Amino acid sequence: MKKNGVIRALSYVLLVVIVLSFFVVQFSRLLQIELTKNTTSTLKEISEQSASIINNNVTYELQLLTEIASSISVSTSESFDLDAVIKTLEYHRANLTFKALGLIFKDGSTYNSEGLGISMPPEIMEVYDPVFAGDTLVSDRIADETDGKDIMVYAVPIYIGDSPEIILFSAYDMEDFKVMLAIETFGDNGYSYIVKRNGDKVVGSTHSRSFRPFTNIFSDVENASPANKKCVTKMRTDFENGESGMVDFYNKERKYLRYTPLDINDWYMLCVVPTNIVDESANRILLYSLGISAIAVLLVLFATVYLIRAHNKTNKECENFINVDAVTGGMSYARFVLATSEYMAKQTGTVAFMALTIDTIDILYDRYGSDKVDEILCFFSDSIRSIMGEGTLVARQTSKEFFALTPYVSEPSMLARLYALENKVSIPPEELLQNVMLHPTIGIYLVEDRELDIMRMQNAATIAKNAAKKKPGVFFTFYDEFLQNTLQAKKQLADEMVIALKQNEFVPYFQPKYDTKTQKIIGAEALVRWRKPNGEVVMPASFIPLAEENGFIVQIDTEMFRMVCIKQRELLDANITPVPISINLSRKMLYNPSFIDDFALTMSNYGVPRNLIELEMTESTVFSNKAELLRTTEKIRAHGFKILVDDFGTGYSSLMMLKSTYVDAIKLDKSFIDGYEDKSGAQIITSVFALAKKLGLPITAEGVETKSQYEFLREMDCDIIQGYYFAKPMQYEAFVACLPGGADEPT
Ligand code: C2E
Ligand code: CA
Ligand code: CA
Repeated sequence: MKKNGVIRALSYVLLVVIVLSFFVVQFSRLLQIELTKNTTSTLKEISEQSASIINNNVTYELQLLTEIASSISVSTSESFDLDAVIKTLEYHRANLTFKALGLIFKDGSTYNSEGLGISMPPEIMEVYDPVFAGDTLVSDRIADETDGKDIMVYAVPIYIGDSPEIILFSAYDMEDFKVMLAIETFGDNGYSYIVKRNGDKVVGSTHSRSFRPFTNIFSDVENASPANKKCVTKMRTDFENGESGMVDFYNKERKYLRYTPLDINDWYMLCVVPTNIVDESANRILLYSLGISAIAVLLVLFATVYLIRAHNKTNKECENFINVDAVTGGMSYARFVLATSEYMAKQTGTVAFMALTIDTIDILYDRYGSDKVDEILCFFSDSIRSIMGEGTLVARQTSKEFFALTPYVSEPSMLARLYALENKVSIPPEELLQNVMLHPTIGIYLVEDRELDIMRMQNAATIAKNAAKKKPGVFFTFYDEFLQNTLQAKKQLADEMVIALKQNEFVPYFQPKYDTKTQKIIGAEALVRWRKPNGEVVMPASFIPLAEENGFIVQIDTEMFRMVCIKQRELLDANITPVPISINLSRKMLYNPSFIDDFALTMSNYGVPRNLIELEMTESTVFSNKAELLRTTEKIRAHGFKILVDDFGTGYSSLMMLKSTYVDAIKLDKSFIDGYEDKSGAQIITSVFALAKKLGLPITAEGVETKSQYEFLREMDCDIIQGYYFAKPMQYEAFVACLPGGADEPT
C-alpha cells in the first residue's frame, strides 16, 4: 500500500510535468505566432501612418505654394512687378520653412527670393512642362547646386490672366523627410526609406542596421543574400502594380519589410524591422512563463514529497501503534493475537499458553510512579522472553497482564523454566528496585486443540492464573486440574439459564451516558443482570462467557432488545422524553443476519422510533474481516440503527480500519482511561482522539471513575462519558428518575 502510494504520487508528479511541458511548448508556439502577427500588423500600421504623414505634408506644402502663387498671379490688365514679387518671396522664405523660393520663366530664366537669376538649360526645362500646362510638380531628389545637399523641388504655376506663364518653385531639404521617417516604435529597431518605383533611393536611412550606402532597394536586398531573390521578385511585381505589401529578407539578420505607395510621383515608403524583435519578446515572455512554471512544478513536487513523507510517517506511527507495545517495546497484544494462529500452525509439539502478572504492581504504582512501573514491566517482559527461551512470544494486554506462547517439551523442562523465571523476577536487579520483591503469578494452559479460538486459550490460562492467585504459596497453576470440575459446573449453569430466560429472570440495568460538556444525560447502556427469585443478582461475567460459548447469548440479547423496547414505550406513554439506549450485541448474533429484521419488526410492533435504540458491538466483532459480517453491519445501518464500537482499543483493529467500516461512534475501553496518567497511555489517548476526530467519529469514554479522569477527558474534547463517576448501572425505576421529566429529576 505504501509502495502504491509512492508510485501514485510519482505518476502524479510526472503527469503534472508532462502537462506543464505540453502547455509551455504550445504556449511558446502560440506566443510566437501571436507576436509575429502583432509585429507585422504594427509594422503595417506604422508604414501606413508614415506614408499618410508624408502625403499630407507634401499636399500641405503644395497648397501653401499654390496659395502664394495665386497671391502673385495677376490679371491680363495688370502688370507683373518682378521686384515686388521677389520681395514678397523673400518675406515668405524667411517666415516659412522653405530652403529656397523662386520663379522660373518660360525662357529658362530663374529668380530666387534673393533676386539672383540663373538660366536653365532646355533639357531641364522639359521637366517643368507640365507646370506650364497648369499642373503641380514634386521633383525627385536632386543635388542643390549651391551646397550639393539633397533637395526636392515643388513647383506650381503662376497665372497671368488665365494662362500659367511663370512657375513658382520651392526647395526642401531632404533631411526634413528623414525626421518624418524616423520610426519611434520597436525600441529604435525599425527604420524607413523612400524609394522610387524602380527601387532607387529617394530618402535613405542613417540607422545602424540599414543599407549604407543605399542606392537601390532591389539590388541592395538581392546582393545581401541569395535567399532574397524571391522576395525581390514579389516586391518588383507589387511595385509595378502600385500595390503595398510585406516581405521578409535577410541582411545579416532576418527583417520584415513593409512597402506602401505614396501619393508623390511613383514613390514608395519602406519600413523595415528585424524579425528577432519577435523572438526577443517571445523569449522574454517564454522565460518568465518557464520560470513561473518551474516554480509551480517545484511547489507541486515539494508538496507531494511532503505529503508522502507525512503519509509514511502516519503509516509508520499507526503500524507502531498496532504492532509495538508502548511500554515494553516488545510485541503489542494486537500483534500477538494475530501472530497466534500462525504460531500454532508452525509448532509441531505441544504449546503452552501462559497468562502472567505481577501481583503487587498496583502498590508499586503508588510508591514509585508510572515511569518506574514501566521499567519493571519492561524487565518482566524481557525476563519472560529470555527465560522461556527461543520460540516464545510475549505480549502485554492491559497495564500488568501478560500473555505468552512457548513450546512445551516436557513437564520437568517447563517447571524448570517457571522456577527460573520466578527466581529472576522476584529479586529484581539493584538498579531497578532495592529491597523489594516482586511476585509473579502464572497460569498455564496446555493447548491441545491448536485451532481453538485464542480467546478460549486466553480465558483458560487466565482462569488458571486466577486460581494460582487464590492458592497460598503457589505462583503457577496449570489449567488441566480445573477442566474436569468446570465442565460439570458449566453444564449445570447452561441448564439454569434456559429456565431463567423463561421466567424472565434476565433484566436490563441501565447505565446513563452523559454529555461531557453539559453533564446532561444523553443516553444509556442496557446491561444484562440475572435476577434470581431469591433476590440474588448475578453479574454478566458469571454467565456471559458460557452463554457466548454455547450460543445462548443470542436469546439473551434478543430478550434485552425486547425489554428495552418495552421500557422505551413506557417512557413515551408516560410523556417522559426517552434517551437512546444502546444494547450489547454478541458476535454470535451476527452469524444469523436475519436478527436485524426481527429487531426492526419488534421495534415497529412497540412503536419505538429507530433512533431510540443503538447497537454496541465489540471491536473484534466489527472488524473481523469476514465478508458476511461486513454485509450484516451494512444491513444494520440500512435499517437505521447506529453502530457503536465497544471496548475500542483492546482488540487488534487499527484506527485506520474505522474509515472503511460502517460505524457511527466508538467507545474507548476502560483500560485506556485507566492508563491516562502514564506518559505512553496519555499519548495513545491523544492520538486516538485526534484520529477519531479526523474521521468524524464521536467518542464515548467508558469506565470513568474519578474526577481527574473526567477532567482529563473533558480536556481531550471527549464527547460522551459513561462510568461510576456519574452513575452505576441501575434498575429501570432509578434510571427513569435520572431522566429530565422523570420522577425526581435532580435539582
Ligand atoms: P461492557 O459492554 O464493556 O460494559 C461495561 C461494563 O463496565 C459493565 O459491566 C459496567 O457495569 C462496567 N462499568 C461501567 N462503568 C464502570 C466504572 O466506572 N468502573 C468499572 N470498574 N466498571 C464500570 P457489566 O455490567 O458487568 O458487564 C460486563 C460485560 O458483559 C459488558 O461489558 C458486556 O460486554 C457484557 N454484557 C453485559 N450485558 C450484556 C448483554 O445484554 N448482551 C451481551 N452480549 N453482552 C452483555
Ligand atoms: Ca457495552
Ligand atoms: Ca465496553
